[in-house]
Amino acid sequence: MTLLVTKNPARTILIDGEWRESLSHSTFPVTDPATGAVIGRASDGGAEDTAAAIAAAAAAFDSWAGTTAHQRSAVLAEAERIMRIRQKELAALMTSEQGKPIKAAMNEVGYAADFLAWFAEEAKRIGGVAVPSARADQRFITMRQPVGVVAAITPWNYPISMLTRKLAPALAAGCTSVLKPAALTPLCAVATMEVLLEAGVPAGVLNMVTSSRAAAVGDTMVESPQVRKLTFTGSTAIGKQLAAKAAGSLKRVSMELGGHAPFIVFADADPVRAAKGAALVKFLNAGQACISPNRIYVHRSHYEKFVDTLTERVRALKVGAGESPGVSVGPLINERAVTKMESQVLDALEKGARLTVGGKRMEVDGLDGKTFFAPTVLADVTPEMLISYEETFGPVAAVMPFDDEDEVIAKANDTDYGLAAYVYTNDLSTAIRVTEKLRFGMVGVNDINPTSASAPFGGVKASGLGREGGYEGIDEYLDTKLIGIAV
Ligand code: NAP
Repeated sequence: MTLLVTKNPARTILIDGEWRESLSHSTFPVTDPATGAVIGRASDGGAEDTAAAIAAAAAAFDSWAGTTAHQRSAVLAEAERIMRIRQKELAALMTSEQGKPIKAAMNEVGYAADFLAWFAEEAKRIGGVAVPSARADQRFITMRQPVGVVAAITPWNYPISMLTRKLAPALAAGCTSVLKPAALTPLCAVATMEVLLEAGVPAGVLNMVTSSRAAAVGDTMVESPQVRKLTFTGSTAIGKQLAAKAAGSLKRVSMELGGHAPFIVFADADPVRAAKGAALVKFLNAGQACISPNRIYVHRSHYEKFVDTLTERVRALKVGAGESPGVSVGPLINERAVTKMESQVLDALEKGARLTVGGKRMEVDGLDGKTFFAPTVLADVTPEMLISYEETFGPVAAVMPFDDEDEVIAKANDTDYGLAAYVYTNDLSTAIRVTEKLRFGMVGVNDINPTSASAPFGGVKASGLGREGGYEGIDEYLDTKLIGIAV
């Protein structure tokens, strides 16, 4: 698609309704991971650009907070309409910038539009309550008000839906925002902002600083007293740093961080169905998803059948550029991601894992991209191996046998992370018992996709704080005000 603002010189910083260059006039390249080709440039914002964006958001706050819920809802509904009209163009842009296959990119744009639709409705449901008082001559009512200026920081792996999952509830609540998208995917962020501006979001309500200097932008956001809320999606290490800094001015924080999902297949489950499910969910987005299964535990009675079926399904996955027909696994985002796969696989093999398919970097005919990694299955993985305790974030499935329920629950919970978990069983009691004991924010029972704009997404422990989407999603952007009235 033709982005209006990425011609030379790049003007991808949005402040007060205007697309601008960075104050330093510097830019950085954006590449297609499948080919390594430069597909555009983005403005390289820094601390001063960020301060100007925060000032614009602060200046626009009273006016946006003063609109009616129905007005904000109408803008979001219009944005949803435009995004769905542009679904194909946005998906094509996403595939070239981030690498995921076109069908997955289409799904992601649909998911991003779902957040616009959901929060267009939720805007109208922001209300308070009447609370009984202990005093006969007193009444209480509550009202919910927008928290103020929101700083949002997003990752590259879902470069449009992670934006609407934050910006839609912020807009619905009456907040103004400053977004810093990932440096690897600024063009998707520009295209998303174009949709929102076209839908009628007023100048200053949404601002964005593209940058290759994340710390300069992030520090300005967390240190600013005008920013009242930080919403971050990314790695646990960076999330912890930002949350600690945000504590300096007691900002509200939401953190959607890393995961290390267990995928448990019990003796009463169908191992073939479970293996098909694992092959689908593990290799979505080339494994670069926070809810990707990282540790697959299979009851010993099904173990070989499961490993064989998974291996067969994985061998059939077609790797290539996201635009090519039939491709289901695209390139990894960069060289660092491939090196991580190589080190996890090598470590596992040295410690006795069994490689049944894949295991190495691969070349794809006709493409110059160097970041394709063959979809891989490692069987007989043990707790000492890196892959058992490090988030993989790539196309390597680690499988291991277990014998009893208590043992597998203990192993599944033996991690600092707590985002998603998966359970395969045909016994309702097992499903409920195990789900209750898993210390994770989301559990898929015989289901590989426990996510939707209408459902709360989020983790516990080192996977984060707060929930996005669902009824809870808008609460993160609202403060409750109590009014006591003497009568
Ligand atoms: P990351 O390195 O933490 O980056 C995420 C965002 O933070 C990017 O915009 C990045 O900017 C920015 N950032 C990096 N250093 C910063 C700093 N010092 N100050 C302020 N901002 C900073 O994570 P990633 O590798 O891109 O993303 C993958 C991680 O995200 C995985 O751990 C994954 O599990 C997690 N994730 C979680 C969810 C969820 O909902 N729980 C969803 C998706 C992904 P640059 O791009 O410029 O580095």
